[in-house]
Amino acid sequence: MLVVMQSGATPEQIEAVCDAIRAMGFQPVAMPGAQRTAVGLIGNDRPVDGSPVAGMPGVAEVIRVSQPFKQVSREWRAENTVVEIAPGVAFGGRNVAVIAGPCSVESEAQIIASAHAVRDAGAVALRGGAFKPRSSPYSFQGMGKRGLELLAKARDETGLAIVTEAMDEEGANLVAEYADCIQIGARNMQNFSLLKAVGRMDKPVLLKRGMAATIQELLLAAEYVLAEGNTRVILCERGVRGFDPATRNIFDLSAIPLVHKLSHLPIIADPSHGVGLREHVPSMARASIAAGADGLILEVHPNPDRALSDGAQTLHTEQFARLMHELSTIATAIGREMAHPAGTVAGRAG
Ligand code: PEP
Ligand code: MN
Repeated sequence: MLVVMQSGATPEQIEAVCDAIRAMGFQPVAMPGAQRTAVGLIGNDRPVDGSPVAGMPGVAEVIRVSQPFKQVSREWRAENTVVEIAPGVAFGGRNVAVIAGPCSVESEAQIIASAHAVRDAGAVALRGGAFKPRSSPYSFQGMGKRGLELLAKARDETGLAIVTEAMDEEGANLVAEYADCIQIGARNMQNFSLLKAVGRMDKPVLLKRGMAATIQELLLAAEYVLAEGNTRVILCERGVRGFDPATRNIFDLSAIPLVHKLSHLPIIADPSHGVGLREHVPSMARASIAAGADGLILEVHPNPDRALSDGAQTLHTEQFARLMHELSTIATAIGREMAHPAGTVAGRAG
């Protein structure tokens, strides 16, 4: 339930509504807006009778939130949420922002070269896993803390924001010390203790769709983060497990407009993991922007054939640079614009 206050409602009237919600046994969340304040009610997943507050002074209307996810829903908040992960690097506004880099951080030379290449091509954030969720325990597991240090060095050199994965609560605390945004991977989308832990942190979260998760489950996973107080969540479509081994996953482009209808949170697309085949990543990246994605996360490596993980789906740096030009045309065609890295000719003063 959401109680929308009149634009002239006084702080006392808002507090009285909060008290009434507490008296009903729920928790009020006051959300001051540009025009007026709304008070949400959390702590239940059943319909609530709003009549005790509907007639209170200062109340404009009481809206029932029909979805099982509450704070994440469009009903809860009509305007798009813009999540800024570093100064000038935002997802969910008019700009389309691109995160790019290798699947894994492998060495200083590799991550620094990747950072320069993706920045020169127009990416605003650098990806690279230091903690890798691999199907086999014998596969490269990532460089750990040293990988995070190298990412921080790449940020110092290029100004790019850093996005990297955490696989558990301890790792999330460490990642938060180095990165601008904590990635929760597909395999951990329903790791509820991890979701609660990042929900208590003051750090943006990139939440990827689980390998077999419905859109409702993705939004409920995001709700775990918001329920703990962290509202800076970026969702990510990265494909779901299908029946056809022709592609790594079934890349669900329709998730983008669907999530935009159901939620105010930004959603980006990961065609690298979605498709799994380098030659088809560019077309799906273009399609994602056309479908309204607020950004992309793409795997790019100076030498993908030598990559320690996900080489087959990783773009060459030249391929990425070409793609970025094409994306700019598509963004313009739908009334948006590619975000530019700070300090470049087309970017903000850096
Ligand atoms: C990744 O981004 O490298 C990754 C492991 O992604 P996902 O969790 O979507 O499989
Ligand atoms: Mn990968």
